[in-house]
Parts: sequence; C-alpha cells; structure tokens
Amino acid sequence: MILEIVKYGDPVLRRKGKPVGEITDEVRALAADMIETMRAANGVGLAAQQVGIPLQLTVLEVESTEERPSTMSIDGKEADLADWMPMVLLDPKIEPGKEKETASEGCLSFPEITAEIERSLSVKASGRLLDGRPVAFEATGLLARALQHETDHLNGILFIDRMTSATKTSIKAKLKRLERETKDS
Ligand code: ZN
Repeated sequence: MILEIVKYGDPVLRRKGKPVGEITDEVRALAADMIETMRAANGVGLAAQQVGIPLQLTVLEVESTEERPSTMSIDGKEADLADWMPMVLLDPKIEPGKEKETASEGCLSFPEITAEIERSLSVKASGRLLDGRPVAFEATGLLARALQHETDHLNGILFIDRMTSATKTSIKAKLKRLERETKDS
C-alpha cells in the first residue's frame, strides 16, 4: 500500500522515533508499505516519521551509479549492494567518518527543494534487519549520505538543519510556502 508522505510543517517530522522493540506483523507491514511508498516517489530512503509514525525504522534503496557511486562493506569485505537493497534498518546507529563532502540532496518531505549539504563521505552503521538479525557495515558515497539523512529523520532532525545559513536563506520563501500548505491541508 502506498502511504501518504508527510510534508514539512507537520510536527511528527520533529519527533524522535521510539525503539522498534518486538518485530511484529505490524512492523513488517509498515516496512513493506514504506518500501512501496519510497519506490513510487523515486526516493532512495524513507523514515517512519515521513509516513507519520515516530519509530526508529527506515528503508533505503540505493543503486551504485557512475554519477553517484556507493559502496558497502562488511567486516572489511566489499558487499554487493544489490544483494542488500532494498534495506530495512531498525534502531540504526551511525558513526560518521571525519572526511566530509558537500553535495546536492533532496527530501521527499520537501518537494521541489534540493540543496547542497555537507555530510561525511563514509559512515559505520549498525542496527537490526527486519528478521531481527543484527547488522553492521561501512558505507560510502550516496549510501553513506542517505544513511546520515535517514538517521537524522529518526531523531527529528531535518536536512534544513544541516544547511548553511546562506543556503537556508535562499530557500526561505519556498519553505514558508510549503509549511503553510501543510498546515492548511
Ligand atoms: Zn528526508
């Protein structure tokens, strides 16, 4: 089922997600619906807050392309990204690497807004998969960026919080309009 994506201005986007706890049929159904919703919106990641549920659950689907390459490795060995996507991560924790890069980023809760955001080039991520198994891996490229963006969502942090003040000023009018539309809907 395709769910409605919550837009900027809805207070649920500012809520910190609760730990998932037991993996029930309800959690599995939510994850499946979120994957369907993310794909329908051509996104590379979606957090539970974005479908109105403050829970530590995110789905990701990143493809490594020449333009925006990504890698994933487990215990130092490179993994085949395609084997892991789409990925459902429960209660994820990340440790961003020191090296940073600035690149263009969008968010399904901010339609038509893209901005340059500084993020770490690599992250160490850990959490649980939908079958309850623990997982730990290192990611680079777009996958590392998506992990940082989505774990921010799970903690009520939005990409506008990561923008420079100049960037935020440049999209101020669009943000105001979006916020108003959300509140009126
Ligand atoms: Zn987002």
